[in-house]
Amino acid sequence: MENILEIENLTVNFDGFKALNNLTFRMGKGELRVIIGPNGAGKTTFLDVITGKVKPTTGKVKFKGKTISGLPEHKVARLGIGRKFQTPRVYQNLTVRENLDLACNRHKNVLPTLFGGTKATERTQTLSLLETIGLTEKADIQAAWLAHGEKQRLEIGMLVAQSPDLLLVDEPVAGLTDEETENVGNLLLALAESHSLIVIEHDMEFVRQIARQVTVLHQGSVLCEGNMNQVQNDPKVIEVYLGEAPTVTPEQMNLIRIAASMAWADGNFAPEQKQVIFSRLSEQFTNDSQHQAQLQGELENYLASNLPLEQLTDTLTTENEKITALKLSYEVIRANGVNELESIVYQQLLGQLGLPLEMVREIEAEIDQVYGG
Ligand code: ADP
Ligand code: MG
Repeated sequence: MENILEIENLTVNFDGFKALNNLTFRMGKGELRVIIGPNGAGKTTFLDVITGKVKPTTGKVKFKGKTISGLPEHKVARLGIGRKFQTPRVYQNLTVRENLDLACNRHKNVLPTLFGGTKATERTQTLSLLETIGLTEKADIQAAWLAHGEKQRLEIGMLVAQSPDLLLVDEPVAGLTDEETENVGNLLLALAESHSLIVIEHDMEFVRQIARQVTVLHQGSVLCEGNMNQVQNDPKVIEVYLGEAPTVTPEQMNLIRIAASMAWADGNFAPEQKQVIFSRLSEQFTNDSQHQAQLQGELENYLASNLPLEQLTDTLTTENEKITALKLSYEVIRANGVNELESIVYQQLLGQLGLPLEMVREIEAEIDQVYGG
């Protein structure tokens, strides 16, 4: 079988920490490959290297026989590699249909799409995509109103609209209900009929639903490869998965979700916001780099889910917990400039926390000093 992807001796060194370590990987054309591994194993970094977001320290990536490592992201995308990130990136204020039309036209001019000038063939393409992702009935609803799982399916549809030869999908079911997990699984299986597909996943149950050939990553290297049965019964795999106690307590997780609701308020989870959450939490919880690797991986999953704020603040009991929630939340919205939607959610948070206004202003002023202006 012809290989669509060949990766040799790949290492990515972040200031002395090897997120990928001498990794070798091959995948055939038309294959559906699932990559699993504990949080911090290097799965997202692996995709970052393939798409050109991160440059390898050593090693090579070949796509359809051609070396692509070192190329910038837009060139890799143009060669036919499409990627879906862990957190959905759809246009909240456009309808489902408009989002798909835009994606179909991304390589062309976007203006005709926005002003209604879509051609007949493209309309047919959008209709069949709507069918594939199971959102025909919601075609004219603003993306902002979709459930999290529906957004994931929409984004997978937007990816397919660009007709890539290789699709990369990062943890598509984190934070989804069981029913939505199954929907997304079936969608990926349907796409695998006509695409080469890499699906990164942490949830073993889901992997069982879709997996054929599985690669297990651990500490930046391939731990083992095989079908689901072989992998599941491999003592090395059992050991790394069992050894993976969560680094975050339920209380801390709750805090993360409150901060995430702030960042999600405008439907856009900015990288600056993610960075604030990650760096504040790792300062608080751990210094160890392997631990931090795991924490960051877990965070990506928690941030993807989106619970109503009241449910989250209800569980804060002591004043100290409330203050910590306030500090983290305010810093998250400050990190990339507070906008109107974020400010509305923040006001709700203040109402629910019920801390004295004077105290709130003092905490805000401290954080304002750090961010200036
Ligand atoms: P996974 O997706 O398997 O959970 P990641 O690839 O996200 O793991 O992360 C692997 C490790 O690399 C983590 O320790 C993470 O902190 C680190 N890492 C990822 N990106 C960067 C970066 N840009 N700079 C420094 N460290 C990074
Ligand atoms: Mg990841």
